[in-house]
Amino acid sequence: MDNKLLTIDVSHGTTHDGPGMRTTVFVKGCPLHCVWCQNPESIGRDNGVWWSFRDCIGCLSCVKVCRTNALSAGDAGIVIDRDLCVNCGDCADVCPSSAMSLQGREYGLEELLSDVLRYRHYYNEFGGGVTCSGGEPLLQSDFITEFFRRLKKENITTALDTCGFAPRERIGSVLQFTDYVLYDLKLFDSGMHKKYTGVPNELILENLLYIADSLRSSGGVKELWIRTPLIPGVTATEENIRSIGRFIAENIPDVLTRWELCAFNGICAAKYEKMGLKWPFNGQGAMAEEDIAPLRKTALEAVPASKLSITGMIRPGNGKDA
Ligand code: SF4
Ligand code: SF4
Repeated sequence: MDNKLLTIDVSHGTTHDGPGMRTTVFVKGCPLHCVWCQNPESIGRDNGVWWSFRDCIGCLSCVKVCRTNALSAGDAGIVIDRDLCVNCGDCADVCPSSAMSLQGREYGLEELLSDVLRYRHYYNEFGGGVTCSGGEPLLQSDFITEFFRRLKKENITTALDTCGFAPRERIGSVLQFTDYVLYDLKLFDSGMHKKYTGVPNELILENLLYIADSLRSSGGVKELWIRTPLIPGVTATEENIRSIGRFIAENIPDVLTRWELCAFNGICAAKYEKMGLKWPFNGQGAMAEEDIAPLRKTALEAVPASKLSITGMIRPGNGKDA
């Protein structure tokens, strides 16, 4: 088993990552590189530092402490030379304002369990539990399997939020101890999927069918949610929603609990800024009700209204029919 789990965040009181009030463990490392990724720091498996212009007070303690000379003061603030940085974290340790910080944090199994079990009364009171999201939890499947096994022993429900791009044996291992699967179907056309996420989608579709079968036969997994991010100009097209809807209707109507269309937001722009990366969606605002309405209508051709959910920040409509 992996001895430690590399995470970007452990967030308590979440309400969008499975039923009830939950703790969501955001795992670091992902095999996909979605151009719209809301958690860009979750993609890489190295635990590098990042710097926030907004929080920096310019004391230069980080520059002085760095033993590899990876940091310097430039015109626009602290410059990180990634070729020289060895991710030691010394600069983050001395930073008085947390402007310099490590992107991730490692947890041992007992440490993570004791952290999430502190909220047991909330899980019981509000029908929640623990979700592993990402990044991609299946990249660290040995740890997640054992983590979920221990949670089940404590009568805590478990949810796996996955992109589905993983070897079958990893999925099977985690599924034994999983109550809810939240499964991403982003783009139905495999060429488009490769263009925008870096990988084709055949394996993802095959794995979904495998999960559906195991849900039918084992009685272990309780619910299957499909999640589709609505990304303007990419996934948020009637053609894509229609194709995904058809796949759902033809293959998994009996085991689908919910199909969630997650409206785009640009809140993560600051993360790209901290990482010194350009984000193609910079400046793109929230979607409007009239953008969503035709997609909702298309999705309803495939699933009943009781199984369709639209989430995310949506601007009110302009009064015109979509
Ligand atoms: S993490 Fe270590 S090597 Fe990298 S910039 Fe900070 S002090 Fe330098
Ligand atoms: S130590 Fe922190 S506050 Fe000081 S210059 Fe470096 S990043 Fe800015």
